[in-house]
Amino acid sequence: MQIPTSFELFRVFGIPVRAHLSVGLLMLYLVFTVGNLFYGLMFALMLLGSILLHELSHTAAAVAFGGHVCDIRLQLMGGCAMITRMPPKPWHECVMALAGPACSLLLAALFWGLSWAFATEEPRVWRIGGNYFTDGSTVTVQNFWLGVTAMLNFGLGCFNLLPAYPMDGGRVLRSALQMAGRTKVAATEIAVTVGQGFAVLWAAVSVLALLGVSMQAPEAWPEALRFGWDLLFGGGGLLLLAVAYMIWASGRRELAFARQEALYSRIYGGRS
Ligand SMILES: [Zn+2]
Repeated sequence: MQIPTSFELFRVFGIPVRAHLSVGLLMLYLVFTVGNLFYGLMFALMLLGSILLHELSHTAAAVAFGGHVCDIRLQLMGGCAMITRMPPKPWHECVMALAGPACSLLLAALFWGLSWAFATEEPRVWRIGGNYFTDGSTVTVQNFWLGVTAMLNFGLGCFNLLPAYPMDGGRVLRSALQMAGRTKVAATEIAVTVGQGFAVLWAAVSVLALLGVSMQAPEAWPEALRFGWDLLFGGGGLLLLAVAYMIWASGRRELAFARQEALYSRIYGGRS
């Protein structure tokens, strides 16, 4: 008997949205890093909601081009739309890959606007030494949680646009190489190599963080931005190390798949 490792949450347009058990680990990590059960869970829900909308955008583009999506999975390392039939043309893959980050960046702009629409007036405070001073004047402060959600989506959009195959930016790179006349296998080889370069770089950064090199966000940054930065580097770079490993391993897997696909189409005359 197989023990189920994921369970269905709900369906969107008939496509099941499944949560992997590792989502529980993600929640624990967030509660631990945020240091508060309620805010940690609230942040986890906003993160998962943002990832879900990102994946739904990929899904909508895939379906529009005649692809088939069997389910959307939420996991420790973000989300993933399981596409069982890919749209045929390289430019389809390009648009499909861009749809997710485009959605995240639009949400970022929306929530950034909302965070200022729901801003509050708070007393202006100075800190001199260990003491706080106020003179009765006020300052406009953006809504923290709406601001955090905006930064989260901004980060999600920008991070995914990096050309680290198999992330979205890497898929854009691969399809661009194909459109420039490379075969799918050659384009995948280049995209995977670039992706593994990123993986090595991130692994090196996270090892530095694990060795105790300080990765503190500058004080001058907005609070919401510092919050996101600390989440990525807060666990001593462990999260980044996991991302590096995932990029490395899934790049190798995707390359093997592209080679196998090319081999089948040579044997069966492109009917694969
Ligand atoms: Zn994506």
